[in-house]
Amino acid sequence: MSTDYDVIAIGAGHNGLVAAAYAAAAGRKVLVLERNPWFGGGVVTKELTAPGFRHDQHSMAHIFIQGNPLLRNDDLGLKSRFGLKYVFPELPMMSVFEDGSTLGLYRDRERSVAEISKFSKKDGEAYRKLAEQAQGLMPMLLGALYSPPAPVGASNALMDQSREGRELWRLMQMSIHDLLGEWFEHPKVKMHFARIAGENLVSPDEKATGMGVFVFTGFLEMFGFGVAVGGSGELTRALIDCIKAHGGEVQGGADVARVTVSNGRASGVELTDGRTFRARDAVIGAIHPHDLGRMVDGLDPFVVRTAERTQITDLGCITIHAALNAPLKFKAGDQVKAVMIELLPDDYDVLRKSFDDMRYHGFSRYPLVGLGSLSMHDASRAPEGKAVMHVWDYVTYDHPEGKDWDTAKEDYAQKMLAHMGRFIDNVGPGDIIAKHVDSPVDMERTSSSFRRGDLHGIASVTYQSNAWRPTPELGRNTVPGVERLYLVGPFQYPGGGVFGAGRAAAMTMFDDLGLDFGKVSK
Ligand SMILES: Cc1cc2nc3c(=O)[nH]c(=O)nc-3n(C[C@H](O)[C@H](O)[C@H](O)COP(=O)(O)OP(=O)(O)OC[C@H]3O[C@@H](n4cnc5c(N)ncnc54)[C@H](O)[C@@H]3O)c2cc1C
Repeated sequence: MSTDYDVIAIGAGHNGLVAAAYAAAAGRKVLVLERNPWFGGGVVTKELTAPGFRHDQHSMAHIFIQGNPLLRNDDLGLKSRFGLKYVFPELPMMSVFEDGSTLGLYRDRERSVAEISKFSKKDGEAYRKLAEQAQGLMPMLLGALYSPPAPVGASNALMDQSREGRELWRLMQMSIHDLLGEWFEHPKVKMHFARIAGENLVSPDEKATGMGVFVFTGFLEMFGFGVAVGGSGELTRALIDCIKAHGGEVQGGADVARVTVSNGRASGVELTDGRTFRARDAVIGAIHPHDLGRMVDGLDPFVVRTAERTQITDLGCITIHAALNAPLKFKAGDQVKAVMIELLPDDYDVLRKSFDDMRYHGFSRYPLVGLGSLSMHDASRAPEGKAVMHVWDYVTYDHPEGKDWDTAKEDYAQKMLAHMGRFIDNVGPGDIIAKHVDSPVDMERTSSSFRRGDLHGIASVTYQSNAWRPTPELGRNTVPGVERLYLVGPFQYPGGGVFGAGRAAAMTMFDDLGLDFGKVSK
């Protein structure tokens, strides 16, 4: 096997693969090195429980990548040539309240208005306006999310130049809770939208989360929630096929210890087993900011220090993947057929206080259970008549009672399932064929991105956002003092989630290498 390549990517997460695939399509000789014996990081599908049951271990809904020219224009032929297929169910998200009422958000705005109007006619009308405003923001979002971020100062100055810009800035600084108070009156309608913040591992009371409602609504209506046919890992499979079709290689069991630097330029990598590989043009690195100083020699101590102090959220996820004897039977009725289903209390303040409980390192007073049963939308996920289920809830990385999550996770999973019994008839022991539980500690083990169980690598707070994510020095995927090293990961712009953000890193790399990005994008 050769040890000389043009471009080497550290990590076969989807972002590294996306950046590597663009380089391969431009004719570079590419090698992707992955520490795990499997590929995809947070975009992976495995038979975690029993044969024939395909579980998305981490990401299951591919929302934001749908607006990325990678898929929107099928830049690299992942859909037309490499067989990636999505279904987009009409009902992306539904809240199920403990009293049996439900609130669904449909791709069709009028159906959502009707759902919200069940609780308050005024709120239904307000949603119509909110959704329209969200669509008005979509061109700006689509223009900004998949290329290198604009400088923070210039963006703020631009916003300050118009009334609309100043309104946008205000929106960006508000908490979801504050925002919802201005738009809606019914506590259940507020709770439904407030729960969206939780998906970003923050309380709805956290400032600077308000914009999330508009981004979420805009994407939900324009694209829906993509469910990859065959599993989330199909995206990873298509990217690898694309890299290989262009002559590239992807290797597992290859743990990169260090990026080698020669004359101020990334020149290759050294593995923990002593193997070395040379990169003539560039190195792409899924390097968490806390690891940067250890993996790259000779960096400015300030760059290392600010990267190491990037903050990680205290909230992590605990997930249950289950193989079920039959499709889920919700007490609320058969209308519960959404991609993402949120099981919510009847009292909005209970949801808010549950997040507060975890702020003080306790368990939440009310389990904040979300779930997906993707066999509802893609029959290939489970044997005929059976079903898969992916459940998540929030807990702190440090167990509130000082226990070891490896031994405590099963108890917590039982508590989640018992709670779910209030909403669903068939999640008892006799209904579950087999299950697999991941604690925040397990998540950290599957990818170094999920540090301390933070799904988004580092906290999604203003001072670690946009061109300042993870830090102002590292916010444009590059590393000061080391040329031709490009960072990718959920800790880079635009943040956690399946965005295909490696495209922005590839654009910067193409500029530096004098390659024409226009030739590999449409
Ligand atoms: C439980 C859970 C549920 C989620 N659900 C969703 C969802 O429904 N929708 C959504 O959009 N997002 C979701 N996410 C977030 C999403 O999965 C991540 O944001 C995304 O996978 C990040 O992709 P990435 O390529 O940047 O990083 P990763 O997927 O973390 O990939 C990085 C890869 O690099 C490898 N690596 C790192 N360092 C080295 C090294 N030194 N040597 C070799 N290999 C290395 C890692 O092993 C890993 O494979 C979820 C995450 C979790 C944990």
